[in-house]
Amino acid sequence: MSNKKITKLLKKNGLRLDNRKFDELRSIKMEIGVLEKANGSAYIEWGKNKIIAAIYGPREVHPRRLSLTDKALVRCRYHMTPFSTDERKRPAPSRREVELSKVIAAAVEPIIFTEFYPRTGIDIFIEVLESDGGTRCAALTVTSLALADAGIPLKDLVAACATGKIDGKIVLDMNGIEDQLGEADLPIAITPRNKEITLLQMDGTFTQEEFKKALNLAIEGCEKIYDIQKEALRKEYMIIKEETEKIEEE
Ligand code: ADP
Repeated sequence: MSNKKITKLLKKNGLRLDNRKFDELRSIKMEIGVLEKANGSAYIEWGKNKIIAAIYGPREVHPRRLSLTDKALVRCRYHMTPFSTDERKRPAPSRREVELSKVIAAAVEPIIFTEFYPRTGIDIFIEVLESDGGTRCAALTVTSLALADAGIPLKDLVAACATGKIDGKIVLDMNGIEDQLGEADLPIAITPRNKEITLLQMDGTFTQEEFKKALNLAIEGCEKIYDIQKEALRKEYMIIKEETEKIEEE
């Protein structure tokens, strides 16, 4: 890859290679209701990541023996398209994709009133169209919008963001090259209203002090993500409201 020659991730002026400050997010755009056939959907562009989430359900579970008598079964398939990386990714599900599918389902389940829908299934499909570091956080963030779009009763949203260590400095929201060459990575997901952590993973090493700093910075990042999610929801429901009023007038 072309990243071979890069040895330093911070410039002399303290900025990162993409000119961000240590606590700056990449640019983020979210759109709700992008697919016709799914019960709910949303799309996110987070830096160079492009990810779509589709929700089916609550619906009958196949195979039926997997259904739960007291709540809905929440399943997720996280998939990276073969054209989502620099080098063609093999289409078969990798161990990483299996792991991410599992952790994403576990991290969003706490916000769903699953007990309202016993014996049914809620299926989450995530397609990573382009990736550049931080796809699990972007996928979690867009999934909670797609769940809202599906009209599934939610207790909260899930907002996710990672922090990490590059050239010895704690930074927010690492991009692909920072993720690849950095010293540590700490993706987290929170329910912003209840302040519950539903995902916390760690790669690399932090001192205790660094860990605290990275965790606090990640929580601040999640709060910024939550603001963007709320804005996307407001925008979508304004459009729906305007369309409904127009139909009523006709
Ligand atoms: P995350 O995307 O949540 O940061 P990782 O830390 O596992 O997850 O991956 C970091 C980045 O590495 C991904 O966003 C993607 O750009 C790249 N990547 C992951 N898997 C592959 C792969 N099989 N081939 C090429 N690049 C990959």
